[in-house]
Amino acid sequence: MKIFIATKNQKKLKELKRILIPMGFEVLCESDLDKPFLDAVEDGETFEENAIIKAKSGLSQTGYITVADDSGICVDYLNGRPGVYSARYSGEHGNDEKNNDKLLLELSGVPMEKRTAYYVAAIACVFPDGRQFTVRGECHGHIAFERQSGNGGFGYDPLFISENGPFSQLTPEQKDAISHRGKALKIFEEKLKEYIEVK
Ligand code: IMP
Repeated sequence: MKIFIATKNQKKLKELKRILIPMGFEVLCESDLDKPFLDAVEDGETFEENAIIKAKSGLSQTGYITVADDSGICVDYLNGRPGVYSARYSGEHGNDEKNNDKLLLELSGVPMEKRTAYYVAAIACVFPDGRQFTVRGECHGHIAFERQSGNGGFGYDPLFISENGPFSQLTPEQKDAISHRGKALKIFEEKLKEYIEVK
């Protein structure tokens, strides 16, 4: 059975393939299509809504069961911002340096005990027969006063301190074990099994 992953992010693609291929799916992505894949307009108010928007867009363009995800970081002192706007927080989509600069600026003078934050990852799956579900994983921690050493991770990881230390200093395996995406993927695998028998 074919399943389409609606993402241009190679890292997410790899992680999802690791789960879906052993379950018996033939996994397809943008490069397998014979036409350009159009990005959905992510105008949802929650991570779950955006993941569903992306997955539905994938389904309507391909006709296949489609999986999509949406993620970001929520800072308590900022009432949950940047949240669903994490990728474009500084105004320029995907500029990690500027996003981190803006976050540090908005938290300047805020003491450590008020710098709590959490990453969220929502994964959606939609089926041609109209069924759909979402799962969510969270990882809680703090925003550091300055960028931490280490080259691990991406995005806001240089500033995020988890209960196991700065995300920038964890190996990919250490991060997967506690991250929002790692947790969401585990739940996703179980939930998908309930929805479909593929073997
Ligand atoms: P999207 O899910 O591709 O829309 O990305 C959302 C944004 O959230 C990314 O551009 C990153 O800035 C941030 N983000 C999501 N997950 C992580 C993570 O694991 N580490 C660091 N930043 C993340």
